[in-house]
Amino acid sequence: MENNGHYEKMRTEHVRASHLPDVVMPAVSMPQILRGQRALVTGASSGIGRAVALALGEAGADVVVNYIGGHDGAVSAAEEIRSKGTRAYTHQADVSDEAQVIDMFAKMIRDFGTIDILVNNAGLQKDAPLEEMTLAQWNKVISVNLTGQFLCAREAVREFKRRGVRPEVSCAAGKIICMSSVHEVIPWAGHVNYAASKGGVMLMMKSIAQEVAPYRIRVNSISPGAIRTPINMEAWGTQEHYQSLMKLIPYKRIGEPVEIGRAAAWLASDYADYINGISLFVDGGMTLYPGFETGG
Ligand code: NAD
Repeated sequence: MENNGHYEKMRTEHVRASHLPDVVMPAVSMPQILRGQRALVTGASSGIGRAVALALGEAGADVVVNYIGGHDGAVSAAEEIRSKGTRAYTHQADVSDEAQVIDMFAKMIRDFGTIDILVNNAGLQKDAPLEEMTLAQWNKVISVNLTGQFLCAREAVREFKRRGVRPEVSCAAGKIICMSSVHEVIPWAGHVNYAASKGGVMLMMKSIAQEVAPYRIRVNSISPGAIRTPINMEAWGTQEHYQSLMKLIPYKRIGEPVEIGRAAAWLASDYADYINGISLFVDGGMTLYPGFETGG
């Protein structure tokens, strides 16, 4: 999308139909619910991953900011986390590359001692109608969105089991949050690779959760609806597109990355200790069949 003045304005704007009340955004502070924990967030140089890294830092965690591109965004995220008093560093690695993932976890264990929280956030889209979708587009999306989450989850579980529970830090041995999507349940024409990857994340997450729960390891997903990030700029970048998007959202506003950050901090904390194997939909009601909003 063209990065013009109109788009710049839409970076923060909520377009409202005149008969609806104004948007009031939450004004809440982050309690220190992750103090002493060490977190790794993948794809954290932009969008949701960056907001999650900042939220975990604000909640008291030390954070590894993984990125593949967007070096400046990763560096500024780590600086912002350190400015609030916890440790943070950046680590460039491709989550779909087994050797790079193994190295990333080994370095984190060397530098931070261990890992308590993995947020499997890195993801991308390569959209095309089915008959035009190349095998390269299919493979790229599956390898980052699904295989990347598997590789990182495997390394995290190895470390969680090796180290076990430290009750003074958390009552769980470790927590994994997979960034899924409403498209783990909503089919998405023109995006079959993406929907297949997120549907795969859902059953991978649940199967890992079932397998490792006895070791006090919690594995859950956050399934965002439409969140204002670079990945879906076309859906919110003009007033017309924003208004059209509202047909899909009963709450009648787009979500902001910080709202996923807050959900992730809570889900990773001991406040959520008995929650295992769920998809937490943070979607303004997008999964409520909005086509039936007016009675069908
Ligand atoms: P984004 O494009 O800002 O973030 C994705 C990040 O992943 C980028 O920083 C990118 O560099 C990184 N990445 C891509 N390939 C990588 C690789 N091989 N290794 C490491 N990092 C890699 O978009 P976003 O909206 O913040 O997306 C974050 C996650 O949220 C994705 O998994 C996406 O599917 C999911 N999601 C987003 C929305 C939304 O509305 N924005 C909705 C549902 C789900």
